[in-house]
Amino acid sequence: MKRRQVDLPSIVKDVNVIMVDIEGTTTSINFVKEELFPYVRREVRNYLHDTWDTNDTGDDVLALTQQVMEDVAEGVAGSKPLPAGGESEREDLIAALVTNILGMMDADRKVTPLKTLQGHMWRKAYRDGTITGHVYEDAVEALKAWKKEGKKLVVYSSGSVQAQKLLFGYSCYGDLLHYFSQHFDTTVGSKVETESYLKILRQLHCGPDQVLFLTDLVKEARAATEAGLKVILSVREGTAALTPQDRKDFPVITSFGQLLSHPAEGDSPPAKKRAGKEKKEGEEKEEEDKEGEGKEVEDKEGEEKEDGDKEGEEKKEEEEDDE
Ligand SMILES: [Mg+2]
Repeated sequence: MKRRQVDLPSIVKDVNVIMVDIEGTTTSINFVKEELFPYVRREVRNYLHDTWDTNDTGDDVLALTQQVMEDVAEGVAGSKPLPAGGESEREDLIAALVTNILGMMDADRKVTPLKTLQGHMWRKAYRDGTITGHVYEDAVEALKAWKKEGKKLVVYSSGSVQAQKLLFGYSCYGDLLHYFSQHFDTTVGSKVETESYLKILRQLHCGPDQVLFLTDLVKEARAATEAGLKVILSVREGTAALTPQDRKDFPVITSFGQLLSHPAEGDSPPAKKRAGKEKKEGEEKEEEDKEGEGKEVEDKEGEEKEDGDKEGEEKKEEEEDDE
């Protein structure tokens, strides 16, 4: 059977918004499975112990305690009763909470108290450099190119918005958060429900054919297609196998590079806009990182500095912490 020929860059050219999934798309599945979650398992006891008196951990412990009590009452597998209160029993309580937290993680439960605690632990790990967000180099290059072309870039991931911002804000290629203007997580709905994509479209104020969604999961791809979005499937190391039908239904990429039009492929290179506009701090840093790789990075015209809500969040908090 002959594979249909699809001009991938032209799909990108025809949309205004590019929405990316993270795990299996911009980022290695192994990073999430072999770094983020093991970190929580390994460190949760120490983390609770060290941060016990902070407001965040106080709130987390309260929420987790309520969750465990419900779980025990309902006989949820892996749940264990907590010891009765009492100041002197802090270590016992921590030990019992850890048992329950690991049980929730074993069962891959998505309950909010667990997700919130994980988010707080990852925030600490990203900030102190224990964890660096993995992003594929080809994804960084494409984000840069698309931003330059004036595309609006957004994220839709099952990971919380906070977790998304940490991953891109503290990535192996530096702070990439400024490329994205909006983040969506499962608070808009499940990624396999068409309705979630319709909600996102309303928030983006644009028609479905103006949005390209990149994801590794076929169920998400089908839900997004139902909503009218354009979809391209991402195949990365460790992503779920695609059937011949999946490959028939969707264009497939193994690198974001396949979505870029390369000057070398044309008869003559497209006229480059030589602007010599001032470069932004973050970009210069990235250019240094890429030095010697012969990548086309010099032309910064047309890039707009997004308001970068990051500034208003993690970074600022840190400054405040220092004061
Ligand atoms: Mg994914």
